[in-house]
Amino acid sequence: MRTSARLRRLPPYLFAEIDRQKRAARDAGRDIIDFGVGDPDLPTPDYIVARLRAAAGRPENQRYPQGTGSRSFRRAMAAFLQRRYGVTVDPEQQVLALIGSKEGIGHLPLALLDPGDVALIPCPAYPVYRSGTIFAGAEPFTLELREDRGFLPDLKGIPAEVLQRARLLFINYPNNPTGATAPLSFYEEAVAFARQHDLIVAQDAAYNDMYFGDHAPHSILEIPGAAEVAVEFHSASKSFNMTGWRIGFAAGRADVLAALAAIKANLDSGAFTAVQEAAEEAYTQYDHAEIVQLREVYRARVATLCGPLREMGFGVRVPQATFYVWARVPAGLDSMTVCRRLLAEADVVCVPGVGFGAAGEGYVRFALSVSAERIAEAVRRMGAIRW
Ligand code: PMP
Repeated sequence: MRTSARLRRLPPYLFAEIDRQKRAARDAGRDIIDFGVGDPDLPTPDYIVARLRAAAGRPENQRYPQGTGSRSFRRAMAAFLQRRYGVTVDPEQQVLALIGSKEGIGHLPLALLDPGDVALIPCPAYPVYRSGTIFAGAEPFTLELREDRGFLPDLKGIPAEVLQRARLLFINYPNNPTGATAPLSFYEEAVAFARQHDLIVAQDAAYNDMYFGDHAPHSILEIPGAAEVAVEFHSASKSFNMTGWRIGFAAGRADVLAALAAIKANLDSGAFTAVQEAAEEAYTQYDHAEIVQLREVYRARVATLCGPLREMGFGVRVPQATFYVWARVPAGLDSMTVCRRLLAEADVVCVPGVGFGAAGEGYVRFALSVSAERIAEAVRRMGAIRW
């Protein structure tokens, strides 16, 4: 069978080898400590599950959902943005329900880009910005995220010829995989840049609620006029341990959301209304004690891993948000070799930075979806390796 050219244009899946080795090690009965997957290990809080149970039983929720999100969902998300960020959006036109933020991010280029258009895409990055762009027949242009720039892209360094064709800029803070956060001044710069070059900024805020530093991450929509050039993607997945529920939303520029909604209307029929209702519960109580407590859990995990990793010769900046530790590998090694050896010699799985794009080479990513006790065990095992 011949697959479509668009599928063949996707970059190779560089995690395949580590996946294979991980499975083989598990099958051999080895006690693997897995920092590979960005999927919280802790359960969805009970009050959210209880709301789903009740909502699922109501017949009106069992019919096709309203594709853009139920009115009460959109109102609850707008109220969340108001309370959490002081941002005012119109729930009718500036909020769109998504079947997980990945769905909206992946479909956005189909709504905005044509062949010949360029999307500006960070590297290293979550792969969906690039694959969505490729599926739309458009061209990705890579913006390297460098540690000496705080993993922020250099918007001023983009060639004029590229800027002329650029219609979309993807950014993602707090950032997967680097764990970097963006100051408000960067969002200001991105909004001004979008205005100047007549393009749309898509800010991926999937980790905005997963912070443990002293400052809650900002929304790009806090910048005056941002809703004229930006859309922001939010996700219940990491905020409330709801990865499997597939629910998120986009907020911001109305005609962009309408275009995305038109794509979606032709491909899906929206998120299960009962799941939307459960997400309303989650976002309405975003400051619930159980959610606040999660930050302490991650703070402890970060502390358990970062110090010892540094002593082993890795370069580590303590992240203020996300649950990722992006560690520069000891000098002279590459990311794939380090991952291979961690698995072979310590039964520890992490992911090679190069899997997030060429600019990720020289780093490995640890996802802290592992208890502090198991992290301590991993540290003990890794400490025995001589690099
Ligand atoms: N953005 C980033 C940066 C992510 O890492 C992820 C999930 N790993 C998503 C978006 C998508 O999350 P979801 O579809 O579960 O909302």
